[in-house]
Amino acid sequence: MTIHIDRERCVAAGTCVMTAPAVFDQDDDGIVELLQAEPADDAGVADAVARCPAAAIEVTV
Ligand code: SF4
Repeated sequence: MTIHIDRERCVAAGTCVMTAPAVFDQDDDGIVELLQAEPADDAGVADAVARCPAAAIEVTV
């Protein structure tokens, strides 16, 4: 699994950080930052993708 984030689309909702804190973080402006681009397991990533209000997270396998 490889995760791609689109920081231009991110609206700083923080849902991904709450859902998958090992994978996502937020910068000082609340914009998503990727901690792991290729996590070993799902670790809530699928849920984060589904719940992101900006559709700013994409996963490829
Ligand atoms: S859930 Fe989406 S909009 Fe919210 S911080 Fe994460 S990537 Fe950005």
